[in-house]
Amino acid sequence: MSLILVVEDEPRLLGSIVRTLEESGYATLAADSLTRASQQLSDEVDMMILDVMLPDGSGIEWLSGIREKNNTTPVLVLTARDTIEDRVTGLDAGADDYLVKPFAWDELLARIRVILRRGPSQDATQLSFGEISVDLINRQAQRQGIDLNLQNRQLEILIYLMKHGNEIVTREMIARDVWKEPTTTWTNVIQVHINHLRKELEAEGRTPILHTVRGQGYVLGEVPC
Ligand code: CA
Repeated sequence: MSLILVVEDEPRLLGSIVRTLEESGYATLAADSLTRASQQLSDEVDMMILDVMLPDGSGIEWLSGIREKNNTTPVLVLTARDTIEDRVTGLDAGADDYLVKPFAWDELLARIRVILRRGPSQDATQLSFGEISVDLINRQAQRQGIDLNLQNRQLEILIYLMKHGNEIVTREMIARDVWKEPTTTWTNVIQVHINHLRKELEAEGRTPILHTVRGQGYVLGEVPC
């Protein structure tokens, strides 16, 4: 069952969208602010329906922020005005499609079907974080254009760290989201993979980029204060 995150601050509209989606066989998560949306957004979410004007900011700016962090969840933007400018800004920010309010339920459901069929947003063939890039098709990672020699699991850990760049990632998070096993028996294995990953990333005197935060986890990029 596809999981759709609906971000809309108008309570009646939010309620109607959620009800319509559930009646059509989708699972839903509802958020009435960008703060809530950030909390609810995870790898489990298959797509988002995003309003533009929210109490704590602009949906478009928020979208552009999560795209910068390599989140590729497909997004259908709900816009109140059908101006070219809104549309262009929305699509530039990484929206996959947009729908002008008020809309017909059939139209909403049709757009959702198209987006879900298409899968992850935009050219999710390439992932990048600073000077690190991963070709997701050939499964080859590079730093400063130099190939890294990584095993499959190390590449998956790297991709995960890139998606959470400049954030502390715990071993528990890696076990849960990369190994899909909510267990701590993997922590030594994770450490071995991290060591190898670090060696590859930082070979030949390249700047340290994969940091260990004692007692907490790992950070790719800059350790948050
Ligand atoms: Ca609104």
